[in-house]
Amino acid sequence: MPQALLGMELSEIRQVLGAREPEFRARQVYEALYHTQVHDLIQITTLPGKLRQQLVSEHTIGLPELDRRYQSNDGTRRYLLRLEDGRTVETVWMPEDTRDTLCISSQVGCPVDCKFCMTALMGLERSLTAGEIVGQVLFVARDNGLLEPGSRLNIVMMGMGEPLLNLPNVVKATRILVDSRGVGLSEKRITLSTVGIIPKIEELGREPVRPKLAVSLNASTEEMRQELMPITRKYHLKDLLDACRAFPLRTWEKLTFEYVLLRGVNDTDADARRVVKLLAHLNCKVNLIALNPGPGIPYETPDPERVHAFQAIVKRSMPCFIRKPRGLDIFAACGQLKRNEG
Ligand code: SAH
Repeated sequence: MPQALLGMELSEIRQVLGAREPEFRARQVYEALYHTQVHDLIQITTLPGKLRQQLVSEHTIGLPELDRRYQSNDGTRRYLLRLEDGRTVETVWMPEDTRDTLCISSQVGCPVDCKFCMTALMGLERSLTAGEIVGQVLFVARDNGLLEPGSRLNIVMMGMGEPLLNLPNVVKATRILVDSRGVGLSEKRITLSTVGIIPKIEELGREPVRPKLAVSLNASTEEMRQELMPITRKYHLKDLLDACRAFPLRTWEKLTFEYVLLRGVNDTDADARRVVKLLAHLNCKVNLIALNPGPGIPYETPDPERVHAFQAIVKRSMPCFIRKPRGLDIFAACGQLKRNEG
């Protein structure tokens, strides 16, 4: 089976071309893949004919294929992309006036069993390769003309999966995405979100090139958090906040905490005050997400007034935003990615 090139860094491409080829050949292939984004290896016309033939016969680019595309009436598009092994994964594009956001997946399904999330109902099928992570960006960007000069593209690793349980591939993909000879995106515009796998947060902090860190807090007490996110029985809230405090933020960076609001469960004024207390002394902002409901999810969405009241309390102490749900009508919003046909 031909080997996919997408996801390879320069040193790996050098190995593929063989020791006899000069280094600049590997660079030409790397730039063609990630910067020029050729559709076909035969288009890398800077390579000598023989080398190009060799590449074409032994390799593919390895972009995912379109399985289905769903169009929301708010402009959001949800993509079901088919991978080499036939599995499918979801990527969501959310256009806005001043910027675009691409929400990409790090795994097929998810091993974390959050009680309010539909992806959890799938379980984990497998982790994605670095090429499959980069491939989502290249595919959807091309489909929508997003990588034109001057475009303001944000990438959030908040689709299917727990990125910190696939850290090496997530970090490798990030290096390719931000490399100026690669895809050339800004490091400031890539964020990953985690349930809070503490040892992996520490590992992430040691990476020289990495996404920004967002943590799904989702509860104001240890007990509630363990009930909603059973994996946190292993990673306690206090230790998580210690790890966040120790996280080496870059000068331009703030931590983000996400908080899914569930009616009558974690959405009271007292919860809001506890959130403020927990996050005091952290350089952070809070994103509130009113629950996006779905079949099999035993929780309800709070009224907008409740969400605003919660925000008002947190906002007195730190920046706090309400995340607008996008693509609800096509099951593209947070917690709704489940490869359903709807
Ligand atoms: N596993 C990572 C990445 C997924 S990000 C994480 O949990 O952070 C998805 C974000 O959407 C998380 O903050 C999660 O708490 C939130 N979310 C999950 N299900 C949701 C739902 N049904 N409604 C609103 N937000 C949800």
